[in-house]
Amino acid sequence: MGAQQPDPDIHVINRRALLRAGILAGGILTGAASAGTAVFARTAQPSNRTAPDQRAATPDQAWATLREGNRRWVNGTATHPHQDADRRREVAQKQNPFAVVFSCIDSRVSPELVFDTGLGDLFVVRTAAQTIDPLVTGAAEYGPAEVGTPLVVVLGHQRCGAVTAAAESLHEHKKLPGELSTIASALRSAYTRSGGDVDKMIRINTVDVVNQLKKDNLFAPRIAKGKLKVIGVYYSIDTGTVTRLV
Ligand SMILES: [Zn+2]
Repeated sequence: MGAQQPDPDIHVINRRALLRAGILAGGILTGAASAGTAVFARTAQPSNRTAPDQRAATPDQAWATLREGNRRWVNGTATHPHQDADRRREVAQKQNPFAVVFSCIDSRVSPELVFDTGLGDLFVVRTAAQTIDPLVTGAAEYGPAEVGTPLVVVLGHQRCGAVTAAAESLHEHKKLPGELSTIASALRSAYTRSGGDVDKMIRINTVDVVNQLKKDNLFAPRIAKGKLKVIGVYYSIDTGTVTRLV
């Protein structure tokens, strides 16, 4: 667990920086640190550290951290960072996640595992086939709008049951029961453009959701300023690999 222990020097630096910024006592909603603090702390971070002990400050840094974590997950060398009592105490009064991951509800696609992260690292939003509506969009907006989270990842995945059920229902013109039919309706456009190929439909839907989020009123100006990226990825259930789609 040595590599996972918080670095006391970083804590001292963080605390000083936070006090200087005057936000330790007051906090902003969840008491997130400023971007400047994150940069300062990261400079003091040993280069061989694998756990995301300090928040990545830019979209590219956030993506690099997720990619590294996924590589560990794929290789069977996951370090399970930020999953101990120290971390629980560390984030008890404030959180500052470095990414929003918007994924399917599928039990085999847990974002914290897939990216080898822990408590306080990710905002996770999950719906069947990562379909969106205003409520879900609001949940995705929270991190970037309120604490400056620099990255939103839309995570589609291989063998998605929700996409498969929707494709079958649309193909057979058979309405799914309850609100499941609403999910199928949300996937109709991707179904049409996929020609009925479920894996293609999964990828098309993921990119569609990225494009919808990019147009979001809160996201668009942040994206234009380079403060936020919205990206789409595909998760292989067979290998554990996350591949960038867009
Ligand atoms: Zn799924």
